[in-house]
Amino acid sequence: MRKPKIVVLGAGYGGLMTVTRLQKALGQDEANIVLVNKNDYHYETTWLHEASAGTLHHDRVRYDIDSVINRSKVEFIRAEVEDIKTDEKKVVLNTGEIDYDYLVFALGGESETFGIEGLKEHAFTISNVNAARQIREHIDYQFATYAMETEKKDERLTIVVGGAGFTGIEFLGEITNRVPELCREYDIDYSKVRIYCVEAAPMVLPGFDPELVKYAVAHLEKKGVEFKIGTAIKGATPEGIKVAKGEDETEEIKAGTVVWAAGVRGSSVIEKSGIENMRARVKVNPDLRAPGHDNIFVIGDSSLIINEEINRPYPPTAQIAMQQGEVCARNLVKLIKGSEDALETFTPDIKGTVCSLGDDDAIGVVFGKKVTGTKASFMKKMVDNRALYMIGGPSLVLKKGKFNVL
Ligand code: FAD
Ligand code: NAD
Repeated sequence: MRKPKIVVLGAGYGGLMTVTRLQKALGQDEANIVLVNKNDYHYETTWLHEASAGTLHHDRVRYDIDSVINRSKVEFIRAEVEDIKTDEKKVVLNTGEIDYDYLVFALGGESETFGIEGLKEHAFTISNVNAARQIREHIDYQFATYAMETEKKDERLTIVVGGAGFTGIEFLGEITNRVPELCREYDIDYSKVRIYCVEAAPMVLPGFDPELVKYAVAHLEKKGVEFKIGTAIKGATPEGIKVAKGEDETEEIKAGTVVWAAGVRGSSVIEKSGIENMRARVKVNPDLRAPGHDNIFVIGDSSLIINEEINRPYPPTAQIAMQQGEVCARNLVKLIKGSEDALETFTPDIKGTVCSLGDDDAIGVVFGKKVTGTKASFMKKMVDNRALYMIGGPSLVLKKGKFNVL
């Protein structure tokens, strides 16, 4: 009998959770499992702000996919996904086409630029290992050039972070630790460096606990961050950014580095595929399948789950992507084994949110309790280690874990 073929797209949190659970639950004779990813490594997206600032080497944030999959059960294809032909049950890769019986779409999200002029060309995004490496190298280059040039351009040392959401704040926590090191390395007066955070909403970390937000702002201001709140970025140029000033005017902030951290949308492959979506995210059925597509599961940042209590989408997180991966795998096993039981409904189990403020400080709400300082920072590292454990077990934690916990 022909074995059903499950194709999992993406080796991020959602995709790897699905594959590692499937390889345990299904025998070699029960299904063909294929994993497709553009790199032969997985990266911890949740650590990319550290690699971007240069406070953690980029090799620390990634590991070989081979180290967590069982190659006797899972075929790995290194390729870029370009499209899905749902009618023909085929995935279009840059290397050719593959067919599937069941598809798991877990390609994550992409930066949302809201069509703002110049951002794609002149701003960096914290989106993958190479993008992180480029930000680190660029900031280093600006400092090195400043040290060398006879006519000093002070704006080289200005760093603008667009968006004071969790990504923007976590990056600011790291870069404020890195800048003093850079100043020492290149003999630059620290007072020449400007770090701006520009946020369109009237507060930092909109919607988060106000007391914790106050703590984070005080911590970052003490380290030199200048917040421009209630100020929308309207454009980016080779010289910096344009921000809204009054009704119709804009003001320029000259900056050598602009990091755009103002939101995510789903994968552009979803939009191409014709699967119904909102900003490239699929409002999935309770069992995580795409409406009208009984053989396609969508998980992680390309899925949209509504929090019924407030009637708004859950913010896309690794926490949710991993939980979805587990449920998706169990539902696939039911389908493959021909179980008569109904498929499992996915409900996020939010254990909390911790936002780092550099290596030794953080803020968070964990199991309903507020935490700050070293305690919160310790918890953040435990959350990071847990993600490694869930996918690769204790050996991966020993290899890649964060043990500088005190
Ligand atoms: P990802 O983990 O992003 O994986 C997608 C995978 O698909 C990647 O391996 C990518 O290379 C691959 N891929 C993409 N497109 C293609 C293609 N066309 N072809 C082939 N392969 C492709 N969430 C939390 O819960 N806690 C946190 O502390 C936290 N911190 C964060 C810090 C930062 C700096 C950022 C940017 C995000 C953070 N998040 C956090 C959010 C979290 O990282 C995402 O929600 C999570 O990564 C989504 O998982 P995913 O499986 O959908 O996608
Ligand atoms: P976000 O959408 O959470 O925040 C983006 C911020 O940018 C918002 O505050 C928004 O008001 C602002 N913004 C939008 N347009 C702007 C403009 N034109 N000018 C200035 N500001 C503008 O995005 P994010 O911070 O990238 O987070 C993405 C997802 O990843 C979220 O779901 C978040 O919860 C998750 N995340 C979690 C953690 C954590 O748990 N520690 C860390 C990072 C990211």
